[in-house]
Amino acid sequence: KTRVYKFGNKEADGNSTMKNLLGGKGANLAEMSKIGIPVPPGFTITTEVCTEYNQLGKDTVVEMISKEVEESIRNIEQIMGSSFGDKDNPLLVSVRSGARVSMPGMMDTVLNLGLNDEVVLGLAQKSGNERFAWDSYRRFIQMYGDVVLGMKPESKEDIDPFEEIMEALKHKRDIELDTDFTIQDLKDLVYDFKDAVRKRTGLDFPTDPWDQLWGAVVAVFNSWNGDRAVYYRNMNGYPADWGTAVNVQAMVYGNMGSNSGTGVCFTRDAGTGENVFNGEYLIDAQGEDVVAGVRTPQQITKLGSKRWAELAKVEEEDRIANYPSLEELMPSIYNELNEYQEKLELHYRDMQDMEFTMQNGKLWILQTRNGKRTGAAMVKIAMDAIKEGLITEKEALLQIEPNKLDELLHPIFDAKALENSNVIAQGLPASPGAATGKIVFFADEASNYKSSILVRIETSPEDLEGMNIAKGILTARGGMTSHAAVVARGMGKCCVSGAGALKINYKNRTLTVDGHEYHEGDWISLNGSTGNIIEGKVATSEPELSGEFAELMELSNKYATMQVRTNADSPKDAKVAVKFGAQGIGLTRTEHMFFEVDRIKAMREMILADTVKGRKEALLDLLPMQREDFEGIFEAMTGLPVTVRLLDPPLHEFVPHQLETQRSLAEDMHISLADVKSKVAELEEFNPMLGHRGCRLGITYPEITEMQTRAIIEAALNLKEKGIEAKPEIMVPLIGTIQEFESQEAVIRATAEKVFEERNNTVEYLVGTMIEIPRAALTADLIAKRADFFSFGTNDLTQMAFGYSRDDAGKFLPIYIEKGILKNDPFEVLDQEGVGQLVKIGTSKGRSVKENLKVGICGEHGGEPSSVEFCYNTGMNYVSCSPYRVPIARIASAQAAI
Ligand code: ADP
Ligand code: MG
Ligand code: MG
Repeated sequence: KTRVYKFGNKEADGNSTMKNLLGGKGANLAEMSKIGIPVPPGFTITTEVCTEYNQLGKDTVVEMISKEVEESIRNIEQIMGSSFGDKDNPLLVSVRSGARVSMPGMMDTVLNLGLNDEVVLGLAQKSGNERFAWDSYRRFIQMYGDVVLGMKPESKEDIDPFEEIMEALKHKRDIELDTDFTIQDLKDLVYDFKDAVRKRTGLDFPTDPWDQLWGAVVAVFNSWNGDRAVYYRNMNGYPADWGTAVNVQAMVYGNMGSNSGTGVCFTRDAGTGENVFNGEYLIDAQGEDVVAGVRTPQQITKLGSKRWAELAKVEEEDRIANYPSLEELMPSIYNELNEYQEKLELHYRDMQDMEFTMQNGKLWILQTRNGKRTGAAMVKIAMDAIKEGLITEKEALLQIEPNKLDELLHPIFDAKALENSNVIAQGLPASPGAATGKIVFFADEASNYKSSILVRIETSPEDLEGMNIAKGILTARGGMTSHAAVVARGMGKCCVSGAGALKINYKNRTLTVDGHEYHEGDWISLNGSTGNIIEGKVATSEPELSGEFAELMELSNKYATMQVRTNADSPKDAKVAVKFGAQGIGLTRTEHMFFEVDRIKAMREMILADTVKGRKEALLDLLPMQREDFEGIFEAMTGLPVTVRLLDPPLHEFVPHQLETQRSLAEDMHISLADVKSKVAELEEFNPMLGHRGCRLGITYPEITEMQTRAIIEAALNLKEKGIEAKPEIMVPLIGTIQEFESQEAVIRATAEKVFEERNNTVEYLVGTMIEIPRAALTADLIAKRADFFSFGTNDLTQMAFGYSRDDAGKFLPIYIEKGILKNDPFEVLDQEGVGQLVKIGTSKGRSVKENLKVGICGEHGGEPSSVEFCYNTGMNYVSCSPYRVPIARIASAQAAI
């Protein structure tokens, strides 16, 4: 087994396909070397060795690889014409971490390794540059001390001991920049640094280059299990056994004076996607100096430099004198760099993010990778790349990260404004977007201010209207699938949920965080993409959908075979979804229509009615309202199928629970308060989610089903008479047996026939069902004999398959995920292993009796890319998701088909 892979001198043992073994950095260093890009020679110790190290410990692993490492160092020495540890002609190396995915700033790197009190003299002599030699030495002790000897401060607030020493010297000498240090200063620093090491660790700084090398290799392995890296890995779901590779590479020096420097560059603009080469550099600098912001970095291109000067309000003369672009300052190096960036982008066929260093006028490339980018840049780069012939349409579609499209669809905070903001707490990023408004604590007060943020311990369906009015929703309790979160995502409304640090006092109308009290009417801002809760106002801007976005959507249609519908309860939502390319409605929740002020009254009267007659009267009031809703939705969706689900939630959710509302309802209905109270109590259930809901309502009160069917069919007929095509699909919720379905189907068909007769006109309609109870999935062959279509309600199906109450799971799911008992929240990412089986069984049993049975999904999962792929593989006709996730699902659908 090979554990060490060499690269350099236009050769390499590895290549870019070996990222898992060599890490991203190592694989790309090998690849660049192969295609003739000048990279300093070096070698990569594989990620497998990292895992071996974790199992076997340092001594065993060092013994295992020492021969290969020594050989590889000899190889570098040969190419560079210098020797590791030689005091007359020294080779120095860098020891760099590099996992298979880039983990920005999470792991460690050591530069200038191989120096000691003797070698530094040799380096000075050989380079003829004493200053450079001592600068490298002090940098080395600092990095080695921080990374290998554990002297890096634990928290951001603490100061690095080496920085402290440097600051003190700068102060004493009254200078500002590292470059202002004299040679004597640097020598003093080295002495003081070593002293600090001795004081802190009780040991002398290691002088033997080989000891230094092994120390650094082990430190890089250890950094894989460092706090920062573990946190980052967990956040992204990267398993611990991936490990990191270690790259050891000949040093090239950007700190050799005015003809040297270092920089980073991008082949395109990572923020906007614009096809302009850009980046920053510093003269006489090394490693991270550019990113660290010690000095103001300069722009690489002249264009970039001019743009920068404009923003920084720097006069052209001043710019040319003090901040010239690399293009202007070192045209031949710039031309070479430009050549490489073009070559690398062509080779990798994607935007590249590169690191480079120039040593005495010679250019070296130190790293390249596919650059991280914003959602907007992602779309523009993919579409541009097709036009340029860089990639094919299919490749472009596969390059899109569907979830990143979300960024483009919601209002966003101004980046500048965010920088100066005060984050007071953090919750879950439940629904992306940016919201600023005044605090309100009650849904019915959301309209008191022009912009309000609804702050609740948790929300309930009663709060729907207020949620809709508020600019954003903040809850102290509940997870990513809490009521607030699901509804907010559906509305495309910014929501931060489950912010445990918030203490909400409804009575005093206060929100307390960390001892600081906020009151109703105070401004706060929510960042739904990060979960940040920010004090005061933060400026936002509406996103603009670019032409490239439309082109991308168009392109997805060309390859997607599975359709994408939307979950929409109002004409407004439906219109948004159509704009995003929805091909129908997969779920209209009729109950949401009942929560509006003027309707809830009629609904409550219906529920509280004692007799069938009383109920029918109340339903008669509701009929025209429902019909009107359906007309609006059908019209918004002209010619496209619209699945309408019959009443689903337990009636208890509709009745008033506050004394005042109960009293006014009693007055309206001319009954006693006691009667209202006892009715409300009667509706109370131990287990509402498994209680009197779904088709059980329609079976016990068929008149509700009758009214809803009538509203649907009459609406469709009304539109037909106006020449507008409506395609209703009536859906029975929560059935577990075929008998339940048959009972409801009979009511629906009889009502429809009656309306057809009355109107002397007909429309086509379907009667189907949700599959959301495991028993329904298991008996799908019986159900499909009668049902025209299936729609998998994977929210309830997940709830019932796992036996996790959706409304209570927030208490334990986070712990399950933390402990690795579950990989994902199953309400967010469909559990393919278990719940997925029910979906597969249901689909294949259904299709075994009805070959062309229309099958879709309408749970939250319909807009989650990995779940969409699963639906495609199961052979579904469509997925249905909230309007703002339609573009995401469309891309995921196209990707699944490619
Ligand atoms: P990260 O993964 O955090 O970017 P790197 O391993 O890329 O860490 O290294 C940190 C910095 O040191 C980068 O700016 C890189 O270009 C520079 N660097 C790494 N190795 C060398 C080297 N052999 N010669 C010169 N600079 C180097
Ligand atoms: Mg790097
Ligand atoms: Mg359901």
